[in-house]
Amino acid sequence: MIITTQTHTNSLTKILDKAVNQAEITQEEAIFLLKQTDIEKIHLIRSAADQLRFEQVGNTVTYVINRNINFTNICEQHCSFCAFRRDEGETGAFWLATEQILAKAQAALQEGATEICMQGGLNPQARYQGTSLGYYLQLIKVLKQTFPQLHLHAFSPQEIQFIAREDQISYENVIQSLQAAGVESMPGTAAEVLVDSVRKIICPEKINSQTWLEIVGLAHRLGLPTTSTMLCGHIETPEQQVQHFEQLRSLQQTALEKAYPARITEFILLPFVGQDAPKALKNRVGRDQPSLPNTLLLTAVARLYLGKFIPHHQPSWVKLGLEGAKEALAWGCDDLGGTLMEEHITTMAGAKGGTGLTVSELQNAIQSLNRPYQQRNTLYQLI
Ligand code: SF4
Repeated sequence: MIITTQTHTNSLTKILDKAVNQAEITQEEAIFLLKQTDIEKIHLIRSAADQLRFEQVGNTVTYVINRNINFTNICEQHCSFCAFRRDEGETGAFWLATEQILAKAQAALQEGATEICMQGGLNPQARYQGTSLGYYLQLIKVLKQTFPQLHLHAFSPQEIQFIAREDQISYENVIQSLQAAGVESMPGTAAEVLVDSVRKIICPEKINSQTWLEIVGLAHRLGLPTTSTMLCGHIETPEQQVQHFEQLRSLQQTALEKAYPARITEFILLPFVGQDAPKALKNRVGRDQPSLPNTLLLTAVARLYLGKFIPHHQPSWVKLGLEGAKEALAWGCDDLGGTLMEEHITTMAGAKGGTGLTVSELQNAIQSLNRPYQQRNTLYQLI
């Protein structure tokens, strides 16, 4: 068969119709979408993602008032995209005292925050009464005793595995203990790309794909909601990007089919920022950041592939800048994320998006697109 431009357009239209009609597009179809380079066709993909977003979650753009607290950047691992980590005693290393954490939470509350997002480096010295879990529990208890009204969105699947390994206990034991102490949801970070051949290059010491999926699936079964993320725009191929989407889609399908008490609340695309990251990966990638058009196309395909199962999609204003994040709201996203108040991890890698936004800045950005805004809490309940 001779493949003509018309044949391609017909295939494209069929795939987009399928997605807009809420059918599941296949991995091959998603890869086909990601490989489009013609401006007109990319415009069709954007329109389909935007239409699907409207049908799945409406026109309102949500945001959350939250604060990031990274309690330490001392980390035993050496991910090749990470400019945040330090060895103990190295210039720039920090480990917050309880009083500093409480002061940050107090300031967040004064700004109207409903959520504290807490994650940190993997620091084997962080122990309380002899255990790693003890340290994390004591962190949570201090925060929740003082600020019970703040939702604690804390500790990635990698941190769960770290605690379990340090204390020789099960993931289930760790998650249930954190939940009992006051953790109410888990950041779906450390996912990077859920393809082990990619992980071996960008984060060789991190948990593998299967362990990430196991811990997040377990969290859902135990009633702990999670987010989901993808670190994109470095060495991964379109095929690997879609493999990642497929892992998330089937994880969410399992949670739904088995009626687990919790599931994935949102998908966040995190474009690689390499300006100040270690040089090896940056040199291999050959650029500091993926181009905005590539990120936007991936944003649209994420909506088309995942939207039926994960309806909320958030761009990262830290990585894209506020203008880039606003643009992504026309490519399938419906949420502008949080105020954050202090963002270190990406800013230390050279991102120029800033370390925090005010509520007015988020609202004005949404309003400038002629879309309504609405504050939400971590679990997407409207406030
Ligand atoms: S990304 Fe996380 S686990 Fe990897 S080196 Fe940085 S702080 Fe450590």
